[in-house]
Amino acid sequence: LKTFRKGGLHQEQNKRSADRAIEVFPLPETVSVPLSQALGAAATPVVEKGDRVLCGQLIGKSDTFISAQVHSPVSGTVTRIEEIDDVSGFKRKAVIIRVEGDEYLPGIDLSPEISREIPADREEILQRIHDCGIVGLGGATFPSHIKLSIPANKKVEVLLINGAECEPYLTCDHRLMLERSEELMIGIQIMMKALAVQKAVIAVESNKKDAVALLTKLCNEYTGISVVTLKVKYPQGAEKQLIKAVTGRAVPSGMLPMDVGAVVHNVGTAVAVYEAVQKNKPLISRVVTVSGSSISNPSNYLVRIGTPINLLLEKAGWDAASTGKIVAGGPMMGKALSNTSVPVVKGLSGILAFAHAESMRPAVQNCIRCARCVKVCPMGLSPYYLEAVSAADKLDLAEQAHAMDCMECGCCQYICPSRRPLLDQIRMGKSKLGHLIRSRKNN
Ligand code: SF4
Ligand code: SF4
Repeated sequence: LKTFRKGGLHQEQNKRSADRAIEVFPLPETVSVPLSQALGAAATPVVEKGDRVLCGQLIGKSDTFISAQVHSPVSGTVTRIEEIDDVSGFKRKAVIIRVEGDEYLPGIDLSPEISREIPADREEILQRIHDCGIVGLGGATFPSHIKLSIPANKKVEVLLINGAECEPYLTCDHRLMLERSEELMIGIQIMMKALAVQKAVIAVESNKKDAVALLTKLCNEYTGISVVTLKVKYPQGAEKQLIKAVTGRAVPSGMLPMDVGAVVHNVGTAVAVYEAVQKNKPLISRVVTVSGSSISNPSNYLVRIGTPINLLLEKAGWDAASTGKIVAGGPMMGKALSNTSVPVVKGLSGILAFAHAESMRPAVQNCIRCARCVKVCPMGLSPYYLEAVSAADKLDLAEQAHAMDCMECGCCQYICPSRRPLLDQIRMGKSKLGHLIRSRKNN
């Protein structure tokens, strides 16, 4: 089995919802659709209070290069455009829509038939992906049309499809690989055409044997696509670690995957690309795993964007009284939520509710110089040192120690026997350092 060499760790997988088929989540009464759901600038609203909208209608236009279109996930009436809390903890401008019926914009193909004839023109493919607001669904939310547009001076040889799903608990990608496998394969073909590559590899961790078997069989029908089985190891699904595991190539600090001839997209993104290009369907829903020790009925829901997450928790048998922490995303890279009425967004893969006992942080002890944090860091950093210089605001030292290479995987904080808040401090240091680097560039 393939894997990356440097760092990483093994945790309890707790994939409690792995055998739960994707369930269509009921329409809520109201949705709140943030205009900023992609990496980059927020979209500009193109609707006003009182407007009637249909499912799939454009409500937020992307005006800048790195940004993504936003569409109405429901039919109904716009009641407000206002700032709301979102899953990241920041205030975001959002379009609030009262749901009325479930009427789609004409031209969106809702038939279950698989559409196999892919467009011949690369520009047309990229335009449809842009128009449908597709972003990376693995969590990064980078606009997909940009990631599929390779500059003329770069050469990409292989498309890697990330089906590792290495975070414990999350199973939305696993279910997509099982239940939408043909759409996934056609989505991959479309991406291969956009990138002008002849080779694609679907990388799946070995704990998803059924998905490996199914996709390997399907590969016989699709030229140039193969499946690689990966060792179960966190963070196997991180871009640089995935490239290393599958191709053996290392992406140097400050460089991009395309610099070593690879582009990585998530399985959910490939299915969304299929829907955009073959069905003209914008990204208005996604699969979300709801799990954790305070959830009695772990589930995978196909949910409209903008649905309040407390509805998902309640449907999955949430025991609110026993809950000590709710996390948006996986337990390693997700963020704790203080507000359960925040809406589902394009980048939300899971909602996890944990009991009090699992949520408490033990008291922080002094660093004992055991170097375990160094050993597990997949980026070869010295987390104990980055923590210290970040806490002391010594940004020059943090920069010299490559703080910006930290991908916030959380391995260091997880392993530390002194329970030091390594990632918390490094994140704060990175945020300040990022501002400093950007202001330096602008001057
Ligand atoms: S793992 Fe914790 S205790 Fe050990 S060196 Fe790192 S910060 Fe110090
Ligand atoms: S969070 Fe950053 S410093 Fe810590 S192990 Fe991951 S990459 Fe290394």
